[in-house]
Amino acid sequence: MITLELQEVEIDHCTDCGGIWLDAGELELLLGELENANQLLNSFKIDHTSTEKTRKCPICLKKMRKIIVGSSKPVILIDKCRKGDGLWFDKGELQDIFDRAELDKDNKIQKLLADMFGQEHSNNKQ
Ligand SMILES: [Zn+2]
Repeated sequence: MITLELQEVEIDHCTDCGGIWLDAGELELLLGELENANQLLNSFKIDHTSTEKTRKCPICLKKMRKIIVGSSKPVILIDKCRKGDGLWFDKGELQDIFDRAELDKDNKIQKLLADMFGQEHSNNKQ
């Protein structure tokens, strides 16, 4: 894992799998100034039906919960520590979330993510 700085928030990035770990509160910091942020954060739902493999929290090493983000299909499933240590995003999921949140297409974080993690999930949809 390497640590990257995004908008003054430290994020941990696994260079092997492309995943991203955010400590508790960091997603809120990243989304902080964005208009649709609350709507997105309020859309988090615990998923009880997913068969996706559960991950272990990198901090407490307990199995994490699957959380559904947003309502559009296919759903985005992220992993959340049961104790609240933080959130895990598989490769591309954080960018997907920003895409789905219908945030300002020119927003800084989108651009930074695209710069850091490649263009594959960025917007070419105009
Ligand atoms: Zn944990």
